[in-house]
Amino acid sequence: MKEGIHPNYQECTITCACGEVVKTRSTKGDLRVEICSKCHPFYTGQQKATAARGRIDAFNRKYGLK
Ligand SMILES: [Zn+2]
Repeated sequence: MKEGIHPNYQECTITCACGEVVKTRSTKGDLRVEICSKCHPFYTGQQKATAARGRIDAFNRKYGLK
């Protein structure tokens, strides 16, 4: 490898707003991101759908519906 033409890659930590931390290598150093694979709308949407089902079950129990 020639000296001086390659970016200075370094260990960096990507910290997501949800608390997920991903270690990687980058020229930019540590990063903070708003979203990651753990809190992407696809996954949070799944969690909300589950929560909605829970509320429907609670509603049905409250009013004695099957
Ligand atoms: Zn996240």
